[in-house]
Amino acid sequence: MPKNTEPLVLGIDLGGTKILTAVVNPQGKILSQDYCPTPAQDYPALVQCILKSANRALKQAGIGASGLTAVGIGAAGLSDPEKGILFTSPHLPQCRDVPLGDDIAQGLGVKTYVTNDASAAALGEFYFGAGRGAHNFIYITISTGIGGGIIIDDRLYTGSSGTAGEVGHMTIDANGPPCRCGNKGCWEALASGSALAKEARRKISQGAQTAILDYADGNIDKVTAETIQQAAERGDALAEELIARTGYYFGIGLANLINIFNPELIIIGGGLSNMGDRLLKPAFRVAEERSFRQTCQKVRFARAELGANSGVLGAAAYALQSTKK
Ligand SMILES: [Zn+2]
Repeated sequence: MPKNTEPLVLGIDLGGTKILTAVVNPQGKILSQDYCPTPAQDYPALVQCILKSANRALKQAGIGASGLTAVGIGAAGLSDPEKGILFTSPHLPQCRDVPLGDDIAQGLGVKTYVTNDASAAALGEFYFGAGRGAHNFIYITISTGIGGGIIIDDRLYTGSSGTAGEVGHMTIDANGPPCRCGNKGCWEALASGSALAKEARRKISQGAQTAILDYADGNIDKVTAETIQQAAERGDALAEELIARTGYYFGIGLANLINIFNPELIIIGGGLSNMGDRLLKPAFRVAEERSFRQTCQKVRFARAELGANSGVLGAAAYALQSTKK
């Protein structure tokens, strides 16, 4: 077996349904990876599951834990990156103020860093994807929710207690629809895939004429962003209007971020970004209309490049950055 002398890291993408673990080299090459379903039981079961998956990935890569310089974990929700504590995670109800970083570090014998999944993805794009060479940019993931990460002067900005970058919960409409965070009118409550589907269901239940239902087996509960996109591709007027409306709200949030951060680049990832121009054209138009001209002219928009690996590669990037402190 060839001896690996590179400083390798282990990235762990802790999702609500699955856990992805990968051994990654400093160039972002995945040397091995493992996947396991997220256990629904208590927190100790989750820790055991992560450790088992990590050990399988290490074995596959032909190294022991001593061959790692650090472990990075990206999880949805709020965490304290300094202490490695996961405060809350929307998809992991068993995790509340849990010392995830310490528990994994103890199990593997390697220093472990925990951060938000979207922040990790931002750092992944910075090291290995569309953000290479940029110094100040915002990464936004738009799917069922909206998440983000902020890179300032080549580093992930985590804020004073580690929870910065929750762009999805900036208020866009003070009297807007309720958000799962408890606030109302958040960006996520107006411009995400779930907001889009919810608005479509509202319109359909009011009797709007549309082909959207045809793509949802005639069942209003099965209306999703995907079925709306399918209908839009066939020229359905309501589907097109709903996506343009989502783009409009998406653009308002972009304008806010552009004015506040003056980024050189905004990277957009997540399932909804696949809607392309139908969503992004109105978004960019509104962003341009509502932000300072000089500031907006500096911004380049790019699609995220890491795709399904953005979670593990982001977590790996977070481990890499953390060891360089
Ligand atoms: Zn919210």
